[in-house]
Amino acid sequence: MSYTVINPADESIVTEVEHLDEAATDAAIARAVVAQREWARVAPADRARALRRFADAVDADIEHLALLETRNSGHPITQSRWEAGHVRDVLEYYSASPERLIGKQIPVAGGLDVTFHEPLGVVGVITPWNFPMTIASWGFAPALAAGNAVVLKPAEWTPLTSLRLGELALEAGLPEGLFQVLAGRGSVVGERFVTNPAVRKLVFTGSTEVGKRIMAGAADQVKRVTLELGGKSANIVFADSDIEKAAATAPYSVFDNAGQDCCARSRLLVQRSVYDRFMEGFEQAVKNVKVGDPTLEETEVGPLVTLAHRESVASFIDDSAPVAFRGSAPDGPGAWFAPTVVTPERGSRLATEEIFGPVVSVLPFDDEADAIALANDTEYGLSGSIWTNDLGRGIRVARAVEGGNLSVNSHSSVRYSTPFGGFKQSGLGRELGPDAAEHFTETKNVFFASE
Ligand code: NAP
Ligand code: MG
Repeated sequence: MSYTVINPADESIVTEVEHLDEAATDAAIARAVVAQREWARVAPADRARALRRFADAVDADIEHLALLETRNSGHPITQSRWEAGHVRDVLEYYSASPERLIGKQIPVAGGLDVTFHEPLGVVGVITPWNFPMTIASWGFAPALAAGNAVVLKPAEWTPLTSLRLGELALEAGLPEGLFQVLAGRGSVVGERFVTNPAVRKLVFTGSTEVGKRIMAGAADQVKRVTLELGGKSANIVFADSDIEKAAATAPYSVFDNAGQDCCARSRLLVQRSVYDRFMEGFEQAVKNVKVGDPTLEETEVGPLVTLAHRESVASFIDDSAPVAFRGSAPDGPGAWFAPTVVTPERGSRLATEEIFGPVVSVLPFDDEADAIALANDTEYGLSGSIWTNDLGRGIRVARAVEGGNLSVNSHSSVRYSTPFGGFKQSGLGRELGPDAAEHFTETKNVFFASE
């Protein structure tokens, strides 16, 4: 079994990737078990050094990784470079963790009580196709830092940068078997991570549908899970905000990465009293988004990841769709889809379902209470933005919106030094931030009697 990687910008063949079967997956997990035992015995400072060497190897390979991602996934080259640099940064950040997994000494009678953060063993990381290398690093870097081995299954559509990271780990001197990238189908390699008892924790990023299935399967072995799932996040624009700035930045909060972003602000909630003024500025900004050849430095948005995914996105925009206006996209071969702005009814499919493409639903609201109710009227709760110049309102609304990653007067959501994850059906657990390595350990309490 193999998969043919197609460049989504021009439909040319990039390469063929061999798929592992169940037996090969089990063999890799068995090698990981052996490698992990050794790794956990390595002195913390030496584990830290090994991770820094891995970060250096990624740094030296940024241009190569970036070109691979652009050819495989269609990401604009400037964005691909940022993604590769982010992997380096995440590795550097967690290279500090082995020496900082500090336990507690707890006062008790008759002896000494201390806690240890013990590694779990083998961690299985399953990634989606939208940000292949960055999302992989959020799992493997803290997991390795905490003394675990990692098996990584990239999405079938986008395996190339993950496979390259596996090579770089070996070139940097990480032990054989400690970090293995296993290309294959979700139903084969991914399922085996769920059922093989030697895999002690699953880090899954992907759709809510598959995430639920993984959680149910993990229950059988009480296997630990972190889930990062879908979103339908709101960008809330109040009348008292800097409307021009809100309108100029809104396209990038939802059309970046062609909308294939779990944090995309795909619902744009605009206070009714400034609706027309906002839409005027927004239309201009959408028309200015540079959609095109992802190898060009000036390109802001590339194609969708595959022709199949374009079909899925296009199914939301039929003749009856309430399209307000659209941006541009190239004609000819490639999975192109022009940024699209729709004005659906509340509760309709466009307003509630994750499209995962460059489509934004604009919904007017009346007042603060209405905005909060509308923002929370979804099964998801991943990210969101709030635009207001009223400090009190910024605080009130940020506390009231059910979402794991909010920003006021900006659209930032992911920093490796801050926790990331979802409320409700957007996920379970948190990645990144200062505590992530601990999430790859078990706390062990030991009492030493002094009498
Ligand atoms: P997906 O279909 O759920 O697939 C995600 C990964 O799971 C892929 O590697 C897939 O392998 C694998 N998989 C599929 N079926 C499986 C099974 N039965 N057992 C184990 N693994 C299985 O998601 P996607 O279409 O790649 O990505 C889009 C989704 O990811 C969106 O819903 C998006 O919101 C979400 N996402 C969330 C975050 C976050 O941090 N919250 C970040 C990015 C994306 P195959 O590729 O072989 O099918
Ligand atoms: Mg899928």
